[in-house]
Amino acid sequence: MSNKLFTFHKIVAGCEEGSRKAWEAFLADYTPIVFQLSDVYFGFSPQKQNDFWRDAVAQLSANNFDTLKRFEHQAEREFLMDLRDFLLEEGAEKLDPALDSAETPRPTPEAVLGLLKGLPLLDQEVLFFKLCGYSDATIEKILVTTPAVAQKGLERWRAEYPALLAVSDDRCVWPAAWGVVLRTARKAKTEGCPPLRHFVRIHEGGFQWHEKEPAEEHVTGCLHCLSRWTALREIWHWRKQAKPRPADEIEALLSALPLRTETKARKTLFKRMFG
Ligand SMILES: [Zn+2]
Repeated sequence: MSNKLFTFHKIVAGCEEGSRKAWEAFLADYTPIVFQLSDVYFGFSPQKQNDFWRDAVAQLSANNFDTLKRFEHQAEREFLMDLRDFLLEEGAEKLDPALDSAETPRPTPEAVLGLLKGLPLLDQEVLFFKLCGYSDATIEKILVTTPAVAQKGLERWRAEYPALLAVSDDRCVWPAAWGVVLRTARKAKTEGCPPLRHFVRIHEGGFQWHEKEPAEEHVTGCLHCLSRWTALREIWHWRKQAKPRPADEIEALLSALPLRTETKARKTLFKRMFG
């Protein structure tokens, strides 16, 4: 299903109106990203993953699409970051710490800060993605550079997590413990944290070096910002990689939504938005 005719803004505005067509586009675009994140961060079975997303979609649309309306609407990247935060919060509730790997020390916010301390930004990015559960092959695609360049970081990684050296799947080995680290990072925002828009502009190459440097320096000393900085790269990578899901899967998800009946008057409004 191609959504190239719909812009992000039109899709979200249509979703908030309960338009079936807009939700079809929303689900076609974002279901592959959601499943990708769920694979990495939750490791749910396919059935549980489906149920999780269907419940999340129902929640987004509850009370006249209240949760969806709270997300950042200015640009798609920021919107996807809010969607990601929402999903990670919801998913974390369903994780069982007993299923976390016990073969290697489980990460805590303090241990992660210790591991990253004093490293250059690129090394921190590589280590953060490795802690998330990403394989070197995927990290290379996300960062568009080989993780092998992060030599100092990798030395520490080999010393701290020898059991994880052979990881080749994109899957976190301790979803529950890592979920706690991510939640702690989300809540650790300070007044000195640059707005997300700055990070978006840096990633898009729209910042001057004298503006870029202080922001990047801040990221290397702030778990909240490193988490957002890497999440921005991650979510955009999956957005670009997204492969369509089967139509019956999207159809089943649509059934969880309070979609409006397309009356004549509504159709006129719909035409104004999508025509
Ligand atoms: Zn910060």
